[in-house]
Amino acid sequence: MTIPDTASSKDFWVVVTDMDGTLLDHHTYAFEQALPAVNELRRLNIPLVFNSSKTRAELMSYAALLGVTSPMVVENGGGIFIPEQADPHAFWADTKKFFHRGQWISLGIPRCDILMAILDIRNCEHIPFRSFSELSIAALQEVTGLSELAAEAAQTRDFSEPLIFDGKESDLKRFRSALRRHGLQVSKGGRFYTVSGMHDKGKAMHWLRSYFGIKAGAAVRMAALGDGPNDLLMLEAADVSIAVKSPVNPALNSSVKKVHHTTACGPKGWSESVLALLHQLELSPGEGGPTELSIK
Ligand SMILES: [Mg+2]
Repeated sequence: MTIPDTASSKDFWVVVTDMDGTLLDHHTYAFEQALPAVNELRRLNIPLVFNSSKTRAELMSYAALLGVTSPMVVENGGGIFIPEQADPHAFWADTKKFFHRGQWISLGIPRCDILMAILDIRNCEHIPFRSFSELSIAALQEVTGLSELAAEAAQTRDFSEPLIFDGKESDLKRFRSALRRHGLQVSKGGRFYTVSGMHDKGKAMHWLRSYFGIKAGAAVRMAALGDGPNDLLMLEAADVSIAVKSPVNPALNSSVKKVHHTTACGPKGWSESVLALLHQLELSPGEGGPTELSIK
């Protein structure tokens, strides 16, 4: 794996990750195969930051399961939630008890304004789509494979609206221009299209770099991992960019940044590549090695 010449193990490293198809298996949402690297990050007290199209409620449940207490970027950069931490320099909690209070940084447009705009566009432009707000919990479970509780958490949104797009490429083009007139955009995730304000996962990276820089008082280095087109700006804003192999999306590539590609899909590739990075930085003896990644 290529790391910047000026980077070293003395820098303050932060690992930022997409969730669906990256830390979580695309089909089953399981994260067990990622645990070897998650546990190593915990041992080293390296912050793991979720940067996902998922909602705060969804990310909080994964944070509680993994013991993550670092900030989390929700809904494609729409907001950043900073959990209240018992120790501001500890980014992992040993107990399953999670602090439900914290600070909320808003970077997006409220969901109710987004819903008004997209319904208006559908009425005027006759563009076929179904938004999450129009699906019952049972219907949402059917299209996502989520449990009832997880589907409810996916419905509780603040800054974005996912859609099942039933139209053609030409409809999508018209939809994009109409959204732009409302100050909105649409991006494609692993499974759905998501409408939001003009924020993205990359802009949130700049905020995170400042946040951790102040906290650490040292140079901040960021490694980012993602599997879908909406992760590209996040990967481009990182020092080390890792494209996790997807069973459904074509390989991600950037014209401005070297991107490392995992050989395994989802959480297995995630774990192997994070361990390889820690090994290369001589932070961890781990099993990983540069041979597990290639640059395309
Ligand atoms: Mg993804």
